[in-house]
Amino acid sequence: MPGLSDPAPVAPRSGVPRGNQPILDSLKPEQIPGTHPPVDPLIEVSGLHKSYRTSAGEVPALRGVDLQVWPGEFVAIHGKSGAGKSTLINMVTGIDRPTSGEVLVDGVAIHTMTDDRLARWRGKNLGVVFQFFQLLPSLSLIENITLAMDFSGVYPVVERRDRALALLEQVGLENHARKIPSKISGGQQQRVAIARALANDPGLLVADEPTGNLDSQTAGGVLDLLQDLVERGRTLVVVTHDRELAGRADRVIEIEDGKLLSERAGR
Ligand code: ADP
Repeated sequence: MPGLSDPAPVAPRSGVPRGNQPILDSLKPEQIPGTHPPVDPLIEVSGLHKSYRTSAGEVPALRGVDLQVWPGEFVAIHGKSGAGKSTLINMVTGIDRPTSGEVLVDGVAIHTMTDDRLARWRGKNLGVVFQFFQLLPSLSLIENITLAMDFSGVYPVVERRDRALALLEQVGLENHARKIPSKISGGQQQRVAIARALANDPGLLVADEPTGNLDSQTAGGVLDLLQDLVERGRTLVVVTHDRELAGRADRVIEIEDGKLLSERAGR
């Protein structure tokens, strides 16, 4: 059973640090001077524009965004409220569609997919974490996680409860498995939401202000958990206005008025 000490297996990806590899192999592509990245980007966004039609006219939210994220990276997209962060994340997760431009995730052009295919693709390939957790209030914690597995069908029915319990153990909540979300704290709910995001063992996690609704101490614990997942080989993209969260990333990209401004190394 995939589980805790050996949590949800992640397919080996070239370019991701691995224990016994020579030091150069353990560097991320952008850290190797004078070389081109040896792997394809996991996310490749090009010429992305998104405008919303409102009664007051067109509101441009993204104005020509190009972005590449490499396997195994922890990237933070940092900017003020209204800068376009949620819009960008909605394009990368396929929750919304661009006005123009391309979004490739693991080589798949998600902007061209039908809604049905996109929903199935998202269930199998992507873990999404939201600011307000978005757990189903009438289901127990374990049911919230098994539901994500029921939807995708990646794991056989007989394995789902054990796997959900293993994921709850990974986030330190196995003793609360039968509670409903309102019976645990906000920080604990976000941990469950992270466990749910891992339900189908996606290589890519995307989080929209994952600590935005938590006090700073609780937020620190959630960040430790996310960072640990990156260290185990997952790719993480977080959008945030929180400098401390952004500072934990390998790479921070600033967004302002729908445009990516600059990049800086994170931690
Ligand atoms: P952020 O996540 O950085 O706060 P958003 O992506 O939510 O920014 O918003 C970027 C811009 O797009 C803002 O001007 C916002 O008002 C506008 N916007 C976002 N969603 C909608 C919508 N559904 N309809 C109209 N305008 C929107």
